[in-house]
Amino acid sequence: MSKSIGFYCPHCGIRMHVSSRKKPSPLLHELIVSCRNDQCLASFAASLEMVRPIQNSINPDPAIVTGLPLHKRQWEVELEHHLASIETQLEINEAQKVYIEGFISALFHSSTIDLTRATIYRQRLKQIKLL
Ligand SMILES: [Zn+2]
Repeated sequence: MSKSIGFYCPHCGIRMHVSSRKKPSPLLHELIVSCRNDQCLASFAASLEMVRPIQNSINPDPAIVTGLPLHKRQWEVELEHHLASIETQLEINEAQKVYIEGFISALFHSSTIDLTRATIYRQRLKQIKLL
């Protein structure tokens, strides 16, 4: 049931086994790794994240965006969520617009999104009428 993994126990140096795993996203696996040395028995939570492609899939899933750390992708997901929710309103107030503009700028300046994506988000924002 449990599998050996290329992690070694920091206490005794024995190869550790995966005793539990969760998959919060397709790119992130959270594992519980356990030492099988009966004179040690340490266990740890560990994260395995696929952070960038070495070779792209020849049949990529468009929903999988690699190349950015997970926390940065989550900020972009949040921006997308805010933008989508105000796009369903016909008009927004100045404060909402300023807030989203600030969000886009913050993501751009932290290199979470590139200029192309920032421009696309700003154009979407521009199309929403102010109250
Ligand atoms: Zn150990």
